[in-house]
Amino acid sequence: MSEVKDSNSRFNLELAISGGKIIVIEPSKSALARVRRESEALGELGLSDADLSVAALALDLSRPFVFTDDLALQNLLASLGIRYGSVKLGVRLTKVKRIIYVCPSCGRTYSSPGLCYFCGNRLLRRPVT
Ligand SMILES: [Zn+2]
Repeated sequence: MSEVKDSNSRFNLELAISGGKIIVIEPSKSALARVRRESEALGELGLSDADLSVAALALDLSRPFVFTDDLALQNLLASLGIRYGSVKLGVRLTKVKRIIYVCPSCGRTYSSPGLCYFCGNRLLRRPVT
């Protein structure tokens, strides 16, 4: 819900919830902890709390299927053994990849996203094959 920003979509979402067409479920703490450990092991450290909650909730459900075009989230889901598909981009990750963060200017590599310590450029997410 926190990722629905524009007021029209927000209104429609609240209407659907109050009408019982959409059910809001929070993930368990244990699933959330497992998802955080897995994302750290992969190096997928740029995911939002909402992304992590989606993956955790999928772990709690019996036959989950997640739709997302976010390749970082797809990578985490694949690593957790959760089935997923693309929404509209038709992009689907085929193999789990470990992620590093690279400075586009000086080429230094880091294990977490942010800015380059040496030249201040925003680091790019780069899968390692
Ligand atoms: Zn740099």
